[in-house]
Amino acid sequence: MIRCKQAVRAQQIFAETTVIYILVTVFLETGWVLHGSAIPESKSLEPGLLGLDEMSDCLHRFLFEQLAARGEIVRLAATWQSVLERRTYPPAVRQVLGEAVAAAALLSATIKFDGLLTLQIQAKGPLRLVVVQVTSERALRALARWDGEPEPAPLRDLCGDGTLILTIDLGQGREPYQGMVSLRGNTLAEALEEYFAQSEQLPTRIDLAADERIAAGLLLQRLPGADADADGWNRLGALVATLQPAELLELDTLILLRRLFHEEDMRLFDPDAFFYRCTCSRERTAAMLHTLNEDELRQTLDEQGTIHVDCEFCGHRYAFDSIDIAGLFAGSTPDTSTVRH
Ligand SMILES: [Zn+2]
Repeated sequence: MIRCKQAVRAQQIFAETTVIYILVTVFLETGWVLHGSAIPESKSLEPGLLGLDEMSDCLHRFLFEQLAARGEIVRLAATWQSVLERRTYPPAVRQVLGEAVAAAALLSATIKFDGLLTLQIQAKGPLRLVVVQVTSERALRALARWDGEPEPAPLRDLCGDGTLILTIDLGQGREPYQGMVSLRGNTLAEALEEYFAQSEQLPTRIDLAADERIAAGLLLQRLPGADADADGWNRLGALVATLQPAELLELDTLILLRRLFHEEDMRLFDPDAFFYRCTCSRERTAAMLHTLNEDELRQTLDEQGTIHVDCEFCGHRYAFDSIDIAGLFAGSTPDTSTVRH
């Protein structure tokens, strides 16, 4: 077993407490094996001591090895704040968008390499569109479209007739996977549980919460295979049923896991860190313009002098003048060295 520098440093810091050192080493190198009844209330599990006091914007995966069940928990602060900085959302829209951000983070946990997960709600009600995208680097961006000033309401009333669509682009030239389900239920979590019930046949429980500071979520999924503990899945469900949205929003991730599952044997893996990043670029915007009608673009140029394209995710504005457009349709690459506002 090769120790990384942090583990060695942790050994120096915690040399007087052997148990703590072992936990830190395992955590840093392979994941964190938590044996429920042995989880101490000592400082050894305080994230600050691990240099991980900012547990926000991390997703933790965990496994109940005796129960054929897995889980994920995520709590996004800076990433969610970056989404909110770009537009003022009515509270009802912000609530659903925050829950969708947490959900997309949870569902992206398994994408790798140059993959991309897109969670969409397309609907006909006051809240017409929600889009959240997460790359395999855990870069996230999100947007919503709505009419008027929607009042807080159950999801099916806020969105009306609608569809929940999940698209997973696996990258590397592979065919994207897309699944969809009619939007039902009072909450996005209920809609996603319905999605899993229909598409994956794996019992899945999802809890989501969002406010103006935090977007957070918890996912539990039963895995195929025999359960050594016949009542295990029901017991996990009963534990999670006690979870309040305020706990997801307020509590440190590891403390929350300990509260919920302190009597279960659980393996906790290294966290994935999330961050906000929009994937728009001048090149992509030019490529989009190239798909449009050249004559109409030239007409717009004649009328306005410049074509402005705003990224709906991040608000960034790209400008193209007549020389850019001429170059675009002449087959040459437009000047992408500068981004003009
Ligand atoms: Zn953008």
